[in-house]
Amino acid sequence: MTLTMARMLPHERIDSRRTASIYLHFPYCTVRCRYCDFNVARVTEIPRADYTAAVRAESDLRLPEIAGRDVLSIYFGGGTPSLWGAAGVADTLAHLVAATRAVAPEVTLEANPNEAADGALLAAYVQAGITRLSLGLQAVTDAELHILGRSHDAPLGLAALDVAVRTFPAVTVDLIFGLPGSTAASWRDTLVRVLDTGVDHLSLYHLTVEPRTGLERAVRDGRLSLPTEDVAADQWELIEPTLASYGLHAYEISSYCRPGFESLHNTGYWLGQPYLGLGAGAHSFSGWRPGGARRRENLRPHKEYLRAAMSGQDPVGTEELVSRDDHRDERVMTGLRYGSGVDLEALGAELELDASCGLEERLAPLLREGVVEVIGGRLRLTPRGRSLADAVTRRLLAG
Ligand code: SF4
Repeated sequence: MTLTMARMLPHERIDSRRTASIYLHFPYCTVRCRYCDFNVARVTEIPRADYTAAVRAESDLRLPEIAGRDVLSIYFGGGTPSLWGAAGVADTLAHLVAATRAVAPEVTLEANPNEAADGALLAAYVQAGITRLSLGLQAVTDAELHILGRSHDAPLGLAALDVAVRTFPAVTVDLIFGLPGSTAASWRDTLVRVLDTGVDHLSLYHLTVEPRTGLERAVRDGRLSLPTEDVAADQWELIEPTLASYGLHAYEISSYCRPGFESLHNTGYWLGQPYLGLGAGAHSFSGWRPGGARRRENLRPHKEYLRAAMSGQDPVGTEELVSRDDHRDERVMTGLRYGSGVDLEALGAELELDASCGLEERLAPLLREGVVEVIGGRLRLTPRGRSLADAVTRRLLAG
């Protein structure tokens, strides 16, 4: 049974009518990185016990939202959830697994190298039930880590990765390209140094300069300059061949792995699977229902979240209804990023639209140009279309 499941591709396991995932947001960090605009609380004293109690109280209130669904994955994200501690993670996880239909779920913990270099702590996380570690490495030279304002240095980052690969059944690493001062050669060197550790999954992101961050101020004031578009394009182009020589393939625009190491959790997002988000600022999605899907965000300030959840109230911040057209557009957009594409016919049936989801006229020229294809009912980008992904998606969904 386990063997069969392991060989199934994520989209063969995910069924947006019957399965779900759970996301836990741990908002605390010890420093704020220069490029970060996430919902983060920088504190010197983390209220671990209170936060564990608050998330537990919220889960008791809200787990009925996914009652009857098989929980395929649980994801501890942040912030820096590796600062939660093994006791809090074990307690929270045991509670969720006991209260849901979670059968051998994929359980991911995001970690910073500061904690991940501690072999005893990582072993305790494995003991707590974590099956997959997501390491926020971002870069492997001191100069680039300094630009990003990360709290670890390059030797610590690579040492942490080494410990993680030896400790967890699955490890993924986040890296950023397009960094100030980087070149195609420095980016290739980064990839090779990381791949040499034997890691089986990478998420590779182009640097985004978010408004109101320290990085934005430094770029605006001319203290840092971004590489030219040509350099960024060269960096992008060498990703696939470099990773292929280590046996990793792209299964989503930014995600690469050895066969069998695809992230079930992230694929759930791309394929419209409902997810229950617990914790300060966590997002939830109900999945499609006749009349509209529901999306919500919890209270973002951690103190407000703690107050509400610990007094037994629903810590909801905002809620919105997602229309059928908006839901279709999101599903097609994220489905096209996913290598195996989107099952257009099944989506059309779910949304009570035709087999092309109402996109036949816009699809025709894209099919003729060879930038998309439909195979076995699944719409996906061709290799040529992948290099034009944003433009193809815009044309398909414009109007
Ligand atoms: S560790 Fe992650 S969440 Fe925390 S400040 Fe840095 S980038 Fe943001």
